[in-house]
Amino acid sequence: MSGVGQLAPAAIGAERVTSPAALAARPDACSACSGALDPLGHCANCGAVFGEAYRCPLCHAISDVEASKTQYTRCRACGGPRIPPSESAMSEAEVACLRDARSEQLRAGAFRAGSGFAFASGGLSLLVTLLVLLVTSPAPLAQVAALLASLVPFALAFFALRSARGHARKFDAALQQAWLLAASRLVSAHGGQPSAKAIAQLLRVDEPRAELLLAELSVQDFIAQPAEPPARVRVTELTDPADLAAAEETTRGTSGVSRP
Ligand SMILES: [Zn+2]
Ligand SMILES: [Zn+2]
Repeated sequence: MSGVGQLAPAAIGAERVTSPAALAARPDACSACSGALDPLGHCANCGAVFGEAYRCPLCHAISDVEASKTQYTRCRACGGPRIPPSESAMSEAEVACLRDARSEQLRAGAFRAGSGFAFASGGLSLLVTLLVLLVTSPAPLAQVAALLASLVPFALAFFALRSARGHARKFDAALQQAWLLAASRLVSAHGGQPSAKAIAQLLRVDEPRAELLLAELSVQDFIAQPAEPPARVRVTELTDPADLAAAEETTRGTSGVSRP
């Protein structure tokens, strides 16, 4: 049985994120089968979910997540990208990335549908034009003009497909960023050294994917580290006597070499 898709009350604001207090807000037993619920409000017996931890930040329904066509999970209620709930609450940045990903996903879908429609209507208009030309055989210039006009929908289809690909790339980037943030949150929640297997279980991804996320996180950590201590030797030439005096003043304490 699928998760219970309860709609959120209208009072719930758009900026709401799962907070530790909200994680606790759940009934004691499954109202569908009276089975026991885990700490997050998931019934192991029938699979229904009840806890606030399962509220989708995109559609605000309380629903479980499921596998999607991407490497990551999606909301069972709205189909938008969603990070599986865990004991540590999702950050605002993760929610923002998920929202970005969702809007790019919808745009990509709209442009793809538009491209398909333009392509089909282009095919139809080309067919009609050829039939008309065959029957009426007008002047050559009119024939060329008619054929060119019937090619316009193909050009539109091409541009729509290109836009769809652009939005699909932005979707992938936002999705990857959201999961990286989630992996980073889980790493710090588990003392900094969780195994790829543990991360895979928490994020409901396969182990190679979890390893990739962890590898990317350690690369980011490496880049974020302060590279080298600031250089102590000044190599710029000081022309202003006041600067020269000040520089001498600061170096006198550490170096024994006297300067002119
Ligand atoms: Zn149940
Ligand atoms: Zn949803």
